[in-house]
Amino acid sequence: MTTAERLIARLREIGLDLPEGSRLVRVYPSPAMRNEGAWSWSAMGPDGRELLIGSQYPMAELLGAERLDTMQITSSAVGKDTEVFPAAACRGCGHTTSTTCRICRKPYCGSCLTDHHHEGYGTPADDR
Ligand SMILES: [Zn+2]
Ligand SMILES: [Zn+2]
Repeated sequence: MTTAERLIARLREIGLDLPEGSRLVRVYPSPAMRNEGAWSWSAMGPDGRELLIGSQYPMAELLGAERLDTMQITSSAVGKDTEVFPAAACRGCGHTTSTTCRICRKPYCGSCLTDHHHEGYGTPADDR
């Protein structure tokens, strides 16, 4: 299986609607656009229609992630997009999280971070 095919399988596992025959198409944003979070790939249906699913993370990086999570982005240009990003299991409760402790960099969800302290640093701020 190619990287794209393996990623499609993972995306279906997390519940994304990718019809049979869907493809992941690499996009090549300029470095400036990359800094603004431009996608590095997006999904296209069997009929060539944009599925509005994609990510600024390279396919290989997503495949290497412990878990994947999605987030809805509403932009004026295309309406609703679903962005895929790497996530991990919270070290506290095991749920999927994309937030990490700023001090030890381990994955913790927002509510577990509240109880997660490091001596001398106070409570890590929850930016979600
Ligand atoms: Zn947790
Ligand atoms: Zn920590």
